[in-house]
Amino acid sequence: MKAKFKNGEYIAPVTPLGYKLHPTEKNRLIIDEETKWIVERIFELAAHGYGAKKICHALAKDKVPVPTWWLYKRNGYKASMFEGKPEEVKYRWCIQTVSNILANQIYLGHTVHYKLTKMSYKSKKNIKHSEDEWFVVENTHEPIVTQDLWDLVQTHVNSRRRSRKDDEPQIFAGLIRCGECGWTLGSANTKDKGRFYRCTQYAAYGRNFCTLHYTPYKILYAFVLGRLQYWLMAVKENEDAILERLLQGSEKQRQSENARAEKELKKAQKRRQELNSLFAKMYEDRVKGLLDEENYSMLSVKYRTEQQQLDETVKTISARLEETKEETDDAKRWIDLIQKYSAIDELTAPLLNELIEKIVVHQPWKDGNGRTVRDIEIYYRFVGKID
Ligand SMILES: [Zn+2]
Repeated sequence: MKAKFKNGEYIAPVTPLGYKLHPTEKNRLIIDEETKWIVERIFELAAHGYGAKKICHALAKDKVPVPTWWLYKRNGYKASMFEGKPEEVKYRWCIQTVSNILANQIYLGHTVHYKLTKMSYKSKKNIKHSEDEWFVVENTHEPIVTQDLWDLVQTHVNSRRRSRKDDEPQIFAGLIRCGECGWTLGSANTKDKGRFYRCTQYAAYGRNFCTLHYTPYKILYAFVLGRLQYWLMAVKENEDAILERLLQGSEKQRQSENARAEKELKKAQKRRQELNSLFAKMYEDRVKGLLDEENYSMLSVKYRTEQQQLDETVKTISARLEETKEETDDAKRWIDLIQKYSAIDELTAPLLNELIEKIVVHQPWKDGNGRTVRDIEIYYRFVGKID
């Protein structure tokens, strides 16, 4: 692995927008002419002082497809997001996606490693590294933005960040997701109601796309603190019993994830076989004169590209399945993490990030007595959802 990093090879599972993998050289990025302009457009808008939210709107207005759609179109990736869905889904840009693109040094032609380290497929946990742990190999491929444009954009991004008037620290930043649409929940402040969280897709695009998911900060805080205190107490009381309980839960989750990955793998392999027959048929038609040279080469290119992409998909999924076999004792790790604390009296960003992978908040609803019911799920690091 280390040797690969030194050479600046690209080994992340999904190629970033604007690039594709070199057809023959392994792990080399080359410009993807079909999507490069989108990256350029995003940087240009940012250079003109557009914030991520405004950029999302501009892209949606011009019907620019989102990165996931390109992956879907090419690899069949995340088909459920698009098949049978209204066309707008294709253009619904997420603020986080735009921010990530604007912060990605890959567009300067550099390869950055260790930004996220995948631990194991089981709980889909990525360990975030701080900036000093990044490992940048410069000039590994053709840049899409110039250093000047990059610098200008970063100045805008940083000044925007500083001017955000948030009195309370964002302890839940990056951890809360909308239970219905999967976007992040963002915080907002009102004079009378105080700080609350709401679905960012709803906030950006309105009621046709999601619902408010109104969640007061105080309620979320109390709930999460309560759960962590419960688990700390339970672990201290009977570590063995909890360990057993966690192992059972995560085993179930792992099995269903494996089943899904195997299904995906079969689908890709099946399509791969179909392509082989298509190739044979095409060749036959060409020989018989049923297909002219121009169409023949056009189709060859199309199918060959799809073949390459399928190979990439198959490789990624196989690697994932392999990882789950090398299962470590994750439950024990989580117990050790929480046990470091003698008591949990308050929530802080480091504490939350150490113990929790994500918090999924569903749209609140009213029960028969008119009381608001909130369904909030906590997914812990290493062990997933356990309560
Ligand atoms: Zn939502």
